[in-house]
Amino acid sequence: MSKAAPLTEKARSRTSLWRRATIGVHVDSEACYDCDISDLAPDVQNLNVELDDIDNFDDIYMCVGDDELHEFEDIHNVDDVDRCQDQLPEHDYELYDDSCVGWRWETVESESDSESDLDDDETCTGVARQLAEWMAVDNIKSSSVNKLLKILSPHFPQLPLDSRTLTKTPLHHDIVEISGGQYCHIGLKVVLLHFVRRYSVVVDCLELQINVDGVPLFRSSNTSLWPILCLIRNVAAVEPFLVGLFCGKHKPNNPAEFLSPFVCEADNLIEHGLIVDDKRVEVKIHSFVCDAPARAFLKGIKSHSGYSSCEKCIVHGEYAGKVIFPTVDDPLHTDEDFELMRDENHHIIPCPLRPLRVGFVSQFGIDYMHMACLGVMRRLLLYWKGPVGPLSVRLPRNSVLEISKHLAIFAAHSPVEFARKARSVDDVLKWKATEFRQLMLYSGPFILRGVLSDSVYKHFLLLYVGLRILSCKQLSAAYCDYANELLVKFVKDGEVHYGRSLLVYNVHSLVHLAADVKKLGCIQEFSAFPFESKLGHIKKLVHKPQNPIQQILRRLDAQMTFCNVSEVNTSPVVKSEHSCGPLLPGFANAVQYKRVKTEQFVLALSTGNNCILTNAGIPAVVKNIVVNNGSTHILCSCYRKVSDAFDYPLPSSALRIFRVESEATGNIIAIPLGDVKCKCVCFPDMSKNCSVVIPLLHCK
Ligand SMILES: [Zn+2]
Repeated sequence: MSKAAPLTEKARSRTSLWRRATIGVHVDSEACYDCDISDLAPDVQNLNVELDDIDNFDDIYMCVGDDELHEFEDIHNVDDVDRCQDQLPEHDYELYDDSCVGWRWETVESESDSESDLDDDETCTGVARQLAEWMAVDNIKSSSVNKLLKILSPHFPQLPLDSRTLTKTPLHHDIVEISGGQYCHIGLKVVLLHFVRRYSVVVDCLELQINVDGVPLFRSSNTSLWPILCLIRNVAAVEPFLVGLFCGKHKPNNPAEFLSPFVCEADNLIEHGLIVDDKRVEVKIHSFVCDAPARAFLKGIKSHSGYSSCEKCIVHGEYAGKVIFPTVDDPLHTDEDFELMRDENHHIIPCPLRPLRVGFVSQFGIDYMHMACLGVMRRLLLYWKGPVGPLSVRLPRNSVLEISKHLAIFAAHSPVEFARKARSVDDVLKWKATEFRQLMLYSGPFILRGVLSDSVYKHFLLLYVGLRILSCKQLSAAYCDYANELLVKFVKDGEVHYGRSLLVYNVHSLVHLAADVKKLGCIQEFSAFPFESKLGHIKKLVHKPQNPIQQILRRLDAQMTFCNVSEVNTSPVVKSEHSCGPLLPGFANAVQYKRVKTEQFVLALSTGNNCILTNAGIPAVVKNIVVNNGSTHILCSCYRKVSDAFDYPLPSSALRIFRVESEATGNIIAIPLGDVKCKCVCFPDMSKNCSVVIPLLHCK
């Protein structure tokens, strides 16, 4: 009996111990982030939108999206978390500190353990790891995991009772008070090294894209996040990662202080490179990709509503109820002009990024997501729908309904690459950038034909064709100057159709887009879409109002430990085996599948995902996907009748856009998967009793 007690103690000592690991600067949780949770219900109806200021809608609508509803639900579960914390056994509770960023799970082995104890603990460790992985990958609320842990407790007594102890996060983060808020610098070098090693990246140079933007956290308080994000542009399938994170009641009041850690590190990496296992990898900044307010903040220049706000030319705006830019041929700014601050009307303060050796004009691309999708296209649609804009272009109610009807048809034929299906025009104030993109780069000419007057329709086609060219690598390389001519004409003629009120900052910026494309690549290559997606993800990591930075870092660390979300899969992955055919001679023994995923796109046998262009540039419909002797083939039927879908300002076939018959009736042929030129959107053109085929632009 006397030996029994020490053995039990040893067994206890061997059980998994949860210890607090590294702790950053402690935060006074009462001093910050107070948020009245009773006041968080989203209330779209009460939005007071200044219709004449529709270029600023971004900020307003960031607060009322689906994310907010999710956030609202989570915040109302705060009580559950607190209750669970109260129920923690003493030894667990004392280890927990809400301001702690990292935890470490340490297992202390004992020599006298029995085999059965070891088995039990290994089982428990495995279950705990699976739970932690599930929690991190699916961003499960801690209150839900706590309930599950309580249910599992009798069966797995060694599992912790609190979800927060499941995640082990060996990284250390310091949080400092700067610029009127809190800032944590995760570090550019540390994340670059992590990604290069984790994804076994072999390149001589890392080309970085940097994004800085403000993200409001709650509708009932001014608390917002200002993350610094970085994307390695020349490495496929790696999503943006967090370099630094500011949180405060307002944007950083000292931009130079806020950006200083990033600037120092980036400058050092640009000069000395990144040393990976004794090999020097060059580091370059390709571009800064931000919306107009963030660019003005980073560059220390006038905001987009100012008279001298154009970043590319020295145009001085006029006031016509708001600032407009009626000219398109003013002298251009150069990088040298900017460094010397030659245009006194343009600069407010010395550029906070100044020590960095980048082109502050040429490497700050105008992001088409904010400028064209949320700026120009939204403005046009609101003018057509009303109640803003001149009456001469306003559509009658039945025409608006007609557009909505065709949008619904298009939505039913959308490929999986379109994250969001287009909604009705009546919901235009809630539309996301991807919905405007569908109309602006895909369906517009076919939905608006016969609805808009002929002259307004042709004017829209200038925008459509200009942006389609600048969206495609091959087309923009060949026709960049032509696209520029179209966009300049669109802006000049805009005054005739819509009046001077059209000529706001975003519309004026169209005349500079082609020059950015020549320097930075097609507009997909310097767009804010991947960053917006990451910002949405970061925002969802905040489950309660207290200590947002700590919550984000803890959950991000757990995801870095467990997630493989961006693994590069270079070989195609086939799914959903079937035996329905059709097959061709030579493929009798092939295994048939309904779906194949490549690095660029997903093809399937279903509507929306079954249209391709062959290597010869002929539109075809996928009839079967087969794997024969290890190689994947697409069995497809080509369209027999192919013609131009429009002919102004150029024949649509020059953009590889075609009108085809409703059904592909060509003989079935087999083509290797590698011979698929691109995936296409195919949708019925009701007025012509045929279909339209449009190459997909924004798949990887
Ligand atoms: Zn300009």
